[in-house]
Amino acid sequence: MIELVVGLISVVSVTLAAVVTLAWLRAVRRARALEARVRELTAPKPNAAQAHWMGINVPGDQKIPISVRDWDALKRGLWRSKIALEVAASQAEVILGQCSHMPLCPGKMSETEPCFAGCIDREKRLSANVILNAASQLMPVDVQKPADAPYFAPTREYFSETLSALAAAQAEIEILRKAVEVDSLDIAFTLIVPSDPPPTAPALPPAQLEESK
Ligand SMILES: [Zn+2]
Repeated sequence: MIELVVGLISVVSVTLAAVVTLAWLRAVRRARALEARVRELTAPKPNAAQAHWMGINVPGDQKIPISVRDWDALKRGLWRSKIALEVAASQAEVILGQCSHMPLCPGKMSETEPCFAGCIDREKRLSANVILNAASQLMPVDVQKPADAPYFAPTREYFSETLSALAAAQAEIEILRKAVEVDSLDIAFTLIVPSDPPPTAPALPPAQLEESK
């Protein structure tokens, strides 16, 4: 009986100790969180300029909404610029290959070495090098050809905006056409009906009058 009581007491005391330890750990965690929150709230807040220089507000991280239509157009534009610059670079290389040099000219072997003063195509080579360097520096590093954009129906607003722009353009064309017609009519009128009509019957000289009788 006594053993049973002692065992019960030991079980109860162990459970009580575990509960107290857990409560203490939770209290410590809550106190730390509260302390951090208080520190965060009481810390002096940087103004906009300080936040900018401390890297808290980075304008480059801001995002702007852009329509898929415009985003596709941007990607296509980038891809076109890459193709155009590749064409320019390859043609500049062709011109560089056609340049003639003096014997032992270092420009013949190296792109970065200047030509001898006596090289005939010295200026031409410089211009071709300018094109080649500009194309190499400005060429987009990695651009894939965008897939053909899928068709999607425009919004009602975009559709009516486009239609009204077309109607306005048509009205403008009509006005211009009428102005051109009026101008051409004026020109035709002046050609047909001159302001000083010539005499209906030219006056014949007296000798011709005699002969005609
Ligand atoms: Zn040369």
